[in-house]
Amino acid sequence: MGLTEKVLWSMGLGIIAGLLINLGGFNTEGSFVNDYIVGGLFYVIGKMFITALKMLVVPLVFFSLISGVFGIGDLGKLGKVGIKSFALYMLTTSVAIAVSIGIALLVIPRFSSPSMQVSTFTAPEAPPLGDVLVNIIPGNVVEAFATGNMLQIIFFSILLGISLLMVGKKAESIAEGVEILNEAMMKMVTIIMATAPVAVFALLAKAISELGLDLLAQLAVYVTVVVAALLLHLLGTLMLLFRLFTKLNPLIFLQKMRDVQVFAFSTSSSNATIPVTLRSVTKRLGVDNSVASFTVPFGATINMDGTAIMQGVATVFIAHIYGVELGILGYLTVILMSVLASVGTAGVPGVGLIMLSMVFVQVGLPVEGIGLILGVDRLLDMLRTAVNVTGDAVVSTVVARSEDELDIGVYLDREAGSVEAPEIDEAVEEEFAEVVHRVEEKA
Ligand code: ASP
Repeated sequence: MGLTEKVLWSMGLGIIAGLLINLGGFNTEGSFVNDYIVGGLFYVIGKMFITALKMLVVPLVFFSLISGVFGIGDLGKLGKVGIKSFALYMLTTSVAIAVSIGIALLVIPRFSSPSMQVSTFTAPEAPPLGDVLVNIIPGNVVEAFATGNMLQIIFFSILLGISLLMVGKKAESIAEGVEILNEAMMKMVTIIMATAPVAVFALLAKAISELGLDLLAQLAVYVTVVVAALLLHLLGTLMLLFRLFTKLNPLIFLQKMRDVQVFAFSTSSSNATIPVTLRSVTKRLGVDNSVASFTVPFGATINMDGTAIMQGVATVFIAHIYGVELGILGYLTVILMSVLASVGTAGVPGVGLIMLSMVFVQVGLPVEGIGLILGVDRLLDMLRTAVNVTGDAVVSTVVARSEDELDIGVYLDREAGSVEAPEIDEAVEEEFAEVVHRVEEKA
């Protein structure tokens, strides 16, 4: 069994285990299963896995971007990749939310407003939109790296790559070193990925066991519309765009994206999934690192199609319950605001709700209304994150194709880049040991 199959199995088993715990009523506080299995074992395994993925993000993005700048050949191309990917990210997000608002307006008003239990929701502090541009520049590089501020890291890494190019020949050894470190980071990604079958089980069993299933039933209309709009975007809009611009078979794309989607689904974080996305986009889809090293972390930060879809449906749903008519202008504001909000916020779990509260403030909807959908957001977050990362990969492939940076041979090879058990070549181990001995003897 390949890793993908193993992870899919563990995902299925995790969901079943979670449902058993949930339906069996074992998820009550104070019970052994809840405190020691779910809150103990599953929590620790899942958290270690996500933390390990996060550990890779910053160095991986740093090294791959610098080597991407070295590899691009002509710096004008970098500008083109930037503009194209930005435009496509904005386009896909706008279409996503517009379509989701359309579907929601068609479906939701047909259902009478249910009497709902409202969890309290206080609007978290939203980042001021005007600062988004200023904040791309890191005032303090160490802080940018320490806090994992993706746009700032991208900015600094590209600038450093360009500056090294300007230094010229003298920087050659650094270029080689960075290349090797980048390769090593990719190996580290495969090591962490190899632990996924266990981790994904733990993450899903925990998440599903904690779901409020009765709430899910109460919010069935909302959840169904979000899921339908997500599927439509994933299989319709995105695949259409992919086919139109790349002329390639989208089924191969979808098959190769399964790993990335499962990782995004289990972690609910586009950011933590960056290592897996970057690996799959380069090694499995054949996008050159000079494009992917930029488009993937950039997309994880500014592109959130799935999140925009949730916001569109949530706006219509809550407006309906509160009896507010938003009108065409109101919905246009919603589209504009949520696209802008996606630029300024990073892809981490639950950030969609923060963005939603920014949108609500703008269009004058009651922010506490978000409390209505809070209970099911955990599940929807998982689903929409899988759509978010798929969007990142679609745009990466489309941009690479247009820049002639897509290796069609790799794309068509169904086995290319599939993860095998990570191992070290014995001969290499011996070689290394010899080198170390020689150095020691000299000393
Ligand atoms: N969890 C999502 C992501 O990381 C963002 C969100 O919708 O909350 O892409």
